[in-house]
Amino acid sequence: MNILVTGGAGFIGSHTVVELQNAGHEVVVVDNLCNASEKSLQRVAQITGKQVPFYPVDIRDRAGLEQVMEQYRFDCCIHFAGLKAVGESVGMPLEYYDNNIGGTLTLLDVMRQHGCKNIIFSSSATVYGDPAEIPITEACPKGQCTNPYGQTKTMIEQIMMDLQKADPAWNIVLLRYFNPIGAHQSGLIGENPRGIPNNLMPYITQVAVGKRPQLGVFGGDYDTPDGTCIRDYIHVVDLAVGHVKALQAIERGCGLAIYNLGTGKGCSVLEVIHAFETATGVKIPYVVQGRRAGDIPAMYSDPGKAERELGWKAQYGMEEMCRDSWNWQRKNPNGFED
Ligand code: NAD
Ligand code: UDP
Repeated sequence: MNILVTGGAGFIGSHTVVELQNAGHEVVVVDNLCNASEKSLQRVAQITGKQVPFYPVDIRDRAGLEQVMEQYRFDCCIHFAGLKAVGESVGMPLEYYDNNIGGTLTLLDVMRQHGCKNIIFSSSATVYGDPAEIPITEACPKGQCTNPYGQTKTMIEQIMMDLQKADPAWNIVLLRYFNPIGAHQSGLIGENPRGIPNNLMPYITQVAVGKRPQLGVFGGDYDTPDGTCIRDYIHVVDLAVGHVKALQAIERGCGLAIYNLGTGKGCSVLEVIHAFETATGVKIPYVVQGRRAGDIPAMYSDPGKAERELGWKAQYGMEEMCRDSWNWQRKNPNGFED
């Protein structure tokens, strides 16, 4: 298929471009590089042996998007472009709503004008809020999001559902990611946070590489076996493969389809630290601090629907996730800046 990937220079996007090219798809990337480097796409080409046509376009730029859409006939768009820092979104709600929602509205409209009505969207487990029960199935009702970033995901899902209802010619797949970590096994691409990392694994790898003295564990008094929060961490390569598999749903004319992409296994913060130490042999000094506002005590997926309907199942465990995160960080201590 001919596929437009928005945000394809970013962490999950670049790994997905690799898997799409490896599966024989033709890929074009648009990305405004607000949180990425074009070098990631050069590295993708190194891995796959195929160049990635790239356009430095902001998805809010209608004329820019139209130019790209006129040049290619896309069968489907995989839409990653968006701002994603939870804490930042609390201080910059207008920027988050404008970028994520405004950008998506423009993208959908330009796609419609060009007769491309197939899209796969990067949603998040955050739309479940504090889930009524775990493991979380797709039938679990959406919950209250506590920050503007999460609101953009839940609102974009609603916009897409309304669109598909109004015009059943659209095929829309909402992929609700759990916690992506890890990196491509080559160590050529990986997560490249700007400034102090917000997420657990990049923080751990920066401590391991000596950029930060110690990890703060946010809360040791949760009602979980070791008192720290539980999440469903998924290897980014498994997640990327999930997008290739989701194209099957588009091809069979799914209408609207929603899938959780997770491993189904919950892991506490302390378990992640210990798994990292075991997998890499590097000690991670940490100190247990107060809770971080808005954190949910425990969430992990029931990924059974994606397995039944798409034949997708995560292949990698925590050991490989830690090994590959560390391999990337060790080889690229300054991300793509070296
Ligand atoms: P990322 O920041 O690495 O990738 C997003 C990409 O979008 C970046 O390359 C950025 O430059 C680009 N971008 C942002 N706004 C844009 C705009 N207006 N026009 C064009 N490009 C724009 O983040 P990621 O971790 O790869 O996440 C990809 C998607 O998955 C995001 O939508 C994110 O919200 C979602 N998601 C991520 C996680 C996670 O933990 N990483 C979890 C759930 C959902
Ligand atoms: N976490 C932590 N210290 C950090 C970053 C994260 O203890 O420096 C914890 C956080 O409280 C949560 C888990 O690690 O329980 C995963 O956090 P992350 O921000 O990576 O993902 P999310 O909150 O989106 O699930």
